[in-house]
Amino acid sequence: MPSHIAVVGAGLAGLSAAIALTQAGKAVTLIEAGPAAGGRCRSYFDRELGLRIDNGNHLLLSGNHATFGYLNTIGATETLAMPAAPMFPFMDLRDGRRWVLRPNFGKIPWWVLSRARRVPGTRVRDYLALQRLRKTNSDAAVGASMRHDTLYGRLLEPLAVAALNTPADEGLVRLLATVMEETLFQGGRACIPAVPRAGLSESLVDPAIAWLAAHGSMIHMSRRVAALCDNGNGVEFSTTEGPMRADSAVLAVPPWVLSDLLPGQLCPTAFQAILNIHFRIAADCASPGFIGLIGGTAEWVFVKLGHVSVTVSAANRMVDQDAETIARAVWPDVRAALELPDGPLPPWRVVKERRATVAAIEAQERLRPGPRTRLANVVLAGDWTNTGLPGTIEGAIRSGRTAADVLLAA
Ligand SMILES: Cc1cc2nc3c(=O)[nH]c(=O)nc-3n(C[C@H](O)[C@H](O)[C@H](O)COP(=O)(O)OP(=O)(O)OC[C@H]3O[C@@H](n4cnc5c(N)ncnc54)[C@H](O)[C@@H]3O)c2cc1C
Repeated sequence: MPSHIAVVGAGLAGLSAAIALTQAGKAVTLIEAGPAAGGRCRSYFDRELGLRIDNGNHLLLSGNHATFGYLNTIGATETLAMPAAPMFPFMDLRDGRRWVLRPNFGKIPWWVLSRARRVPGTRVRDYLALQRLRKTNSDAAVGASMRHDTLYGRLLEPLAVAALNTPADEGLVRLLATVMEETLFQGGRACIPAVPRAGLSESLVDPAIAWLAAHGSMIHMSRRVAALCDNGNGVEFSTTEGPMRADSAVLAVPPWVLSDLLPGQLCPTAFQAILNIHFRIAADCASPGFIGLIGGTAEWVFVKLGHVSVTVSAANRMVDQDAETIARAVWPDVRAALELPDGPLPPWRVVKERRATVAAIEAQERLRPGPRTRLANVVLAGDWTNTGLPGTIEGAIRSGRTAADVLLAA
């Protein structure tokens, strides 16, 4: 009999661990508290808007190699929309200026020599200063590590806020450097943006569940693990649907749940919110794609079929405002970005993810544990473990593989 491993939590970390363990020939049972898998990365039907929406916009880059490996395994690579070359449209709402950042494919960044490809108002030497970021191990914040010039205001700060989900004057520069090392510094080939054609669940979640089911895994939804113990011989769980047992377990739950399941376990404690504001619009009033906005409240605007979704990251400063105030604050930015005519506020939905990711600050970085726990048969996975990356899909998927590797090595 193959050993039996329980994976608790069907977010991307749990799905990635379950797939890696199944590939290694283990019998896997996936246990998820919610009615559907996906965790912080999911799609659902919103009755008020009458639309299927994502909980929040998620952007991948072609340099996210673990994520593309995962998509390849579950046969879902084609569910992503990707342009043939990297291109990032921006608009500065303060002066109406628009541009498209277009890194060239190769590693030598000649695109910075071209005014048409770089950020307007920047010089080549501004980009040379970026080289200092490479391999930095500094525990300083992004804002304290860079000159606050046009390149910073129009590219680096928005990039830092998006990648770290933490204000740039707090976010750790070395985490940003790691993200850039794996993407922009590898050349344009590693930073082609990718978004789901239909929805997050259709790309990243449902095909993984289908793959696991087809490979014989047991999948239990709406079953919350309330407690567990490792008796040296295996792991006993108490769940909302009764007791369960496995030889070993991957706990791929968020840190605030883990601290209840494994009291005393080192865990991050501070988080940053992300707001997503969805507006229903006529399907033909703007073409699908996304645009980064500088100098407004909205930061990224994603145009989808029949609706437009706005992201505001590092949003602890706004998350307690009432939903209508938030929707009204971002709509003028959307109108300007998409050149929509004046008119009443369209139907909207504000999704507040209060604990979207761990705050990317030094104090929290020290609280991110590795995969091992004090229990011999229990390991951890999640974007909040010490992946070396900020809380991202890529980090979550890598953490799942790492947890599986630890169990397989044992
Ligand atoms: C709005 C938003 C936008 C984002 N944008 C991006 C982006 O553009 N790019 C990017 O790379 N990343 C982005 N992220 C981050 C990304 O979504 C996360 O890094 C990733 O989804 C985390 O996956 P996870 O499996 O580690 O955790 P989770 O998704 O939190 O999964 C944990 C799972 O455990 C389950 N669970 C909890 N308690 C129990 C229990 N007791 N028993 C059983 N199951 C339990 C939960 O229901 C959940 O399904 C974004 C996140 C948010 C919220």
